[in-house]
Amino acid sequence: MRPPGLPVRVSWHDLPPRVTIWEVGARDGLQNESTVLRTQTKIEFIERLARCGLPVIEATSFVRPDLIPQLSDAADVMTGLRRSPGVRYPALVPNSRGLSDAIAVGVDEIAVFVSATDAFARRNLGRPMAGQMEMVRPVIDGARSLGLGVRGYVSMCFGDPWEGVVETAQVAGVCADLMTAGCTGLSLGDTIGVATPGQVRALIDLILARGIALDVVGVHFHDTYGQALANTLAALISGVTTIDSSAGGLGGCPYAESATGNLATEDLVWMLDGLGIETGVDLAALVETSVWVARELGRTPTSRVVQALAP
Ligand code: MG
Repeated sequence: MRPPGLPVRVSWHDLPPRVTIWEVGARDGLQNESTVLRTQTKIEFIERLARCGLPVIEATSFVRPDLIPQLSDAADVMTGLRRSPGVRYPALVPNSRGLSDAIAVGVDEIAVFVSATDAFARRNLGRPMAGQMEMVRPVIDGARSLGLGVRGYVSMCFGDPWEGVVETAQVAGVCADLMTAGCTGLSLGDTIGVATPGQVRALIDLILARGIALDVVGVHFHDTYGQALANTLAALISGVTTIDSSAGGLGGCPYAESATGNLATEDLVWMLDGLGIETGVDLAALVETSVWVARELGRTPTSRVVQALAP
């Protein structure tokens, strides 16, 4: 008899045999939660995630504390953390000041963010889309000159609350600009969770046609309209092997009132386990961690797997 709490494994021969889960709960998740965790609790969260087998744990963000008070202790989190060998702990860095602060505490991999639309660039970055590369280029240059990996997050790749439809060619152009500037990876964000699977495949096809390698492309889905796993499967069919997700589905989306937040890591792991795709993640330990962190935040975990396995 198979043990309870695990899906039946039936592989799907054309899908990638192994996927890297890029865990964003401690950064993207916590920055969008109204409750602010203590530094020690954040550190425990990250260390628990590492023990679950997650290979990449985005740990924090070196942003202005007045803008995102939830992550004002970025330096303390990075210095207090016992880093597990083989686990990567990137941090989000919005500007050169943030890069200096991150490097000072031993961050060895960073992420920058830009927008696929002009409206969101103006609201979130305070400048038109045409000026956003000028903002991130010094950060990318500074990090690359020290040998640090740089991931480029692209927001609003599949729809924008102010502009509506986002042209695929425009998104691919932003991705190409980031790669030309020196990024080592990309994350295609469905910031408001409106994407559908055909759209995902069309965008990835266009990005590959621009000469960007498949292994630098990551996807970042939100489950607002219940499409996050369907979109993930579409990305897997396209050959994508880096998937972003957040333990417990932490993190709402401040730009969409009905948003349920990030794709939950345990929901993702359930599907990947079922497909026979290796992730290295222990699902039972992850469920336990998501239940624990939700309790620390005083909220109910939104993920379906947690509701099924730890009601
Ligand atoms: Mg997100």
